[in-house]
Order: sequence, then C-alpha cells, then structure tokens
Amino acid sequence: MFDNLSDRLGNVFDRLRGRGSLNEADVREAMREIRVALLEADVALPVARRFIDAVTEKAVGQDVLRSVTPGQQVVKIVHDELVEMLGGQEHQGLLLEAKPPVVVMMVGLQGSGKTTTTAKLAKYIRERHGKKAMMASLDVARPAAQEQLAVLGEQVDVATLPIVKGQQPVDIARRAIESAKLQAVDVLMLDTAGRLHVDQALMDEMKAVAGVSNPTEVLLVVDSLTGQDAVNVAQSFSGEVPLTGVVLTRMDGDARGGAALSMRAVTGKPIKFAGTGEKLDAIEAFHAGRVADRILGMGDVVSLVEKAAATVKEEDAEHLAKRMAKGQFDLNDLRMQLRQMQNMGGLGMLAGMMPGMKKAKAAMAESGMDDKVLVHMDAIIGSMTAKERARPELMNAKRKKRVAAGSGTQVQDVNKLLKMHQEMARAMKQIKKMGGLKGLAAMFG
Ligand code: GDP
Repeated sequence: MFDNLSDRLGNVFDRLRGRGSLNEADVREAMREIRVALLEADVALPVARRFIDAVTEKAVGQDVLRSVTPGQQVVKIVHDELVEMLGGQEHQGLLLEAKPPVVVMMVGLQGSGKTTTTAKLAKYIRERHGKKAMMASLDVARPAAQEQLAVLGEQVDVATLPIVKGQQPVDIARRAIESAKLQAVDVLMLDTAGRLHVDQALMDEMKAVAGVSNPTEVLLVVDSLTGQDAVNVAQSFSGEVPLTGVVLTRMDGDARGGAALSMRAVTGKPIKFAGTGEKLDAIEAFHAGRVADRILGMGDVVSLVEKAAATVKEEDAEHLAKRMAKGQFDLNDLRMQLRQMQNMGGLGMLAGMMPGMKKAKAAMAESGMDDKVLVHMDAIIGSMTAKERARPELMNAKRKKRVAAGSGTQVQDVNKLLKMHQEMARAMKQIKKMGGLKGLAAMFG
C-alpha cells in the first residue's frame, strides 16, 4: 500500500532532514518533488495542488526555517496535512447505536468486492462490536449472487435471509427488516445489486431500497485499484443516495493509493474501512492518522498492536504497546513480535506495518530468507541469556558463536538478527519522538 509514494517522500525527507538549515527555496524545491510524487500516486490534481499550497504556507514560516530541526518540522507539517487529506484524526466508525435493527446498506458497482465486503463487515460487527448481525442479498440481477452471500454467511457464521426466488429488491428489503425484528437482530446488512456502470436504473433501485429500509449507514464499496475512477463513482453515487461512508477494497494490491488520498477531499465522504485481501478477516478500520504514519514510513504501530491483540494474549499486546510507547524495545520484545508475526500470517502481511520492517524485509529477501527465518530468529533469541536479551549490546564474538551453535544457525544469522533489532529499536525511538503514538496511549490508558 502506498509503496511508491512512501519511497518518494522518504527520499525527499532524507534530504531535508540531512541539512542543518533550510531556506524558502529548499522548501519549495521539496514541495515540487512532493507534488510530482502525489500526482504519480494518482492523486487528483486539485487535491495535490491544495495539499502543496497548505504545506508550503506553513513550512516557509520563519518559525520553521529558523528552528533547530527545520527538516523534521517540515516532515511533521506534511504528516499533519496528509492526515487531513485522508479524512482527519477522528476515526469515523460505524454508527450502530440506533434502535435495532440498524440497517447498513452496501452499494457499489459489480466486481468492486461488495458481496465479500458485506460478509467481512458482518463478521467484524459480530466480533468487534459484539452485535448480532444478519445479511440479505438484494441482488436479483446477477445470477447466483444471493447464493454467494449465503455461502459467505456460513463461513463467517452470520445468518442470511432465506432466498425467495422471483422476489424484487424492495420486497426483499421489507422482508429482511421483518425477519430481523422477529429474530432480535441488531444489525441488518443489505447487499444491493451492482451494475457494470453507474446508470439511472441502478440509482432508482438504490433510492427505493433506501426509502423502505431507512438505513443508518449507506456504505459505498469501491475498488481502490481503479484510482480516480473510484472517486468518480463515489461522486456519482453521493449525488443520488445519502452515502455515509466509503469502503476501499483491494488496498492490498494498490501500490499507488490515489483513490484513498483523493476520496475525502473530492467527495467529502469518509473512508470507513479498507479491504486488504480475499480472506474474510482482511478488513481494517480506516484511520487517517495511522495511514499517514504508514505512508511516511513511521510504521502503523497501532494497527499492528490491534492485530496482535486479536491473535495473542491481551497482556502481551498491552505490554508491547507500553514498551513501544516508551521507545523501549529489546530482544524479548522482538521475540514476542516474531511470534505474533507467525500467528498473523508471516512477513509479507506485516511488511510496511511495522517500523523498520520494510528495510529488514528487503534485506531478508535479498539474502533469500523467508518465513522459516522467523523460526530461526526465535531459536537464536532463545539461545541467549536473559541478560543478553535485555541488553543485546552484551553479545560479543564469542557469545555469538555459542548462540549460533545453540540455535543451529550461523554467526552471520545472529548478526543479521541483532542488526534488525537495532533498526527496529531505532525506529521505535523515532516514533516516540515524533509523538506518533497518541492513539496508542489512549487505547491502553
Ligand atoms: P461484487 O461483484 O462487488 O459483489 O464483488 P465480490 O464480492 O464478488 O468480489 C470480487 C472479487 O474480489 C472476489 O474474488 C473477492 O475475493 C475479491 N476481493 C474483494 N475484496 C478484496 C480485497 O480487499 N482484496 C483482494 N485482494 N481481493 C478482494
């Protein structure tokens, strides 16, 4: 996600940070490069222009240029503006507190991932919100669409409305609401029909369904890989139905990120969720602050910790979060993370989420290492003494040899692990300095 932009901005910032003093011309030069980077990421032109204007105005202020760390300050300004562009610091969660059954209407074009997302969200609502969900497919246009939702419902353990052949969308919606009431369902998800293109018949159908179901949420599902088209689709829909938010799918394959970066500014609609894979738990709440952190290579520690919390013991996640918030990170912490990585689906899944991991992963790939490496690393740390785990700098040549022998690895593997730890520890410190863990502090009190 956002790989290219991330790399480009990283280069610009390295140069800015590397200099003791900056003048206005330096900043303007950097802004030109950032502008190109945004356009290459497929950000809508007016959005890129507004972004650059806002950042430039703040960054060429005398307070910034005269400060001791002007480069760092410019990075912070870009970061804050990115957060704004992505929708602001406040996360727009799902509104589910109205009188049940709360109706969540899913709309979008065919192939956008609407049906999959409906099932993912139903699972999310059941697991994360602890609410009883039900799903109903109103898609009578695409053959087997209703059956597809029923199959997904079984997979995510959420009931689906029984199919009545020949019934039309508005009638299905009415029946679904009745059924949801009878079964004391908290949240009813309506998976509406898609079309290949936005057309009036589709809009009329959406309006009619919204008319009878009075949805609390109307979520538009769009494919982030379609870039500015996704933004255009959102604009077309928002003129016709009262959209409350957007779900961007296939973020896992989107190296550019233009749809995510332009959506809020162009349509005024918040991105509420991001689809990050084909599996039914591959959905993430969209937090602008965290995404900005990720783009700027500060690592998405909070998402990481949340993910960890879902797969590992809560105490462990909490402990880790507290250590990270303090900028502390020893080999015990690394080991805990390695185990979590294994639980969470290995390296590929996590690269880019964890500070320093991107580089570490690239280094691993270069030397032909893969997920087996996680197991080796765990063994290496296991062969060290408690003292060494807490203070890795104690590892000398002799000890490295012993540890390598003890863990069935080579001294160079031990060195690689220590180097990776160093990089990560450094990144943690940096995050702490930049105050990038505000959300974390709030989460863990
Ligand atoms: P619909 O026509 O809009 O209902 O689309 P579907 O829900 O049937 O999804 C179409 C395809 O996209 C399926 O193969 C899904 O597995 C896939 N898909 C949906 N969301 C994501 C996502 O976030 N990432 C990836 N990689 N694939 C997705």
